[in-house]
Amino acid sequence: MDNLSFKALRVEEQAEGTFTRTIQTRQLSDLPQNAVTLEVKFAALNYKDALSASGHKGITRNFPHTPGIDASGVVVEDTTGTFAVGAEVLVTSYDLGMNTDGGFGAFIKVPAEWVVPLPKQFTLQKAMELGTAGFTAGLALYKMEQSGQVPVMGPILVTGATGGVGSMAVSILAKAGYEVIASSGKADKIPYLKSLGATTVIDRAAVNDPSKKPFLKTQWAGAIDTVGGNTLTTIFKACGLNGNVAVCGLVGSDEIITTVYPFIIKGNNLLGVESATTAMPTRLKVWESLATKWYVDLPKDAVEVISLEDINPAIDRILAGKVSGRILVKY
Ligand code: NDP
Repeated sequence: MDNLSFKALRVEEQAEGTFTRTIQTRQLSDLPQNAVTLEVKFAALNYKDALSASGHKGITRNFPHTPGIDASGVVVEDTTGTFAVGAEVLVTSYDLGMNTDGGFGAFIKVPAEWVVPLPKQFTLQKAMELGTAGFTAGLALYKMEQSGQVPVMGPILVTGATGGVGSMAVSILAKAGYEVIASSGKADKIPYLKSLGATTVIDRAAVNDPSKKPFLKTQWAGAIDTVGGNTLTTIFKACGLNGNVAVCGLVGSDEIITTVYPFIIKGNNLLGVESATTAMPTRLKVWESLATKWYVDLPKDAVEVISLEDINPAIDRILAGKVSGRILVKY
């Protein structure tokens, strides 16, 4: 089986420090010697994949490399005996697509500890419609609810709302019974955000207060933030009593400048969300919730299915911030 050939995106570093992306033919023996071999049926494209695919050394240290942090597929071999041949599974997080060849190749080899059985409510496509974005949004809500967030406290703000994590957060929060305020830079996407379940859509400029005031009028009871920087600072200024703010991303900035007042006067919580290293018991609980009480049917225009040959322009679009919803690669 080791000489079985398949197609994969390869990102290569050139002598002058530039990076090229080409679809190449590889063999199973080229993959790392991990226990579980999967035939990938679907992969998902995330912002993190686009960073890896453009040579971001904070994501991927060594090139050539195949990105793709999300994959679902069928077990071809498991030398540990944990998974039966033919079992449908999904893999997100850990080192997949970072320094371990990922889902933008038609086969992957991963440790058995990274593999999640496909929830019975899901198809392999559905699992990737969620992927790391859905899992991250689900983990954010899980942590907020563990810290006492409930719908009666008031609306939840989602920033970067048309992005992968943002779109999933809007949908899952709405399904869980929360009123959702979606913040977006894309005025033409208001109908899309409402179709996901947002009650109100605001311009992202409204979550970027330039003043030095420690507090603003309360506008939300909690937030799922993918932007960071002054957006996150503003979120705390306008967050209600005992509200939880789940920090997921940094598309705007990696800084946060705040006073201690939100924490000691309003009892706000800053919750860190790190999907890659979430322990398996919590991971399984979040996937179970995503497959049952938080199950969402995304509208058709929230999911774009492409072939591996079309991955390069899709990577450019996500880097340019021009993507709404989820892009899946189907093999
Ligand atoms: P996407 O590129 O799909 O979405 C990002 C969205 O953010 C855009 O669609 C846009 O939405 C908004 N945005 C883009 N640029 C800016 C800007 N300069 N200022 C304010 N808003 C902006 O990314 P993902 O959803 O895949 O990832 C979002 C973030 O979450 C990233 O930082 C990513 O690294 C992080 N992440 C973290 C994870 C974790 O475990 N903590 C897991 C997965 C992702 P709009 O136009 O609607 O405002």
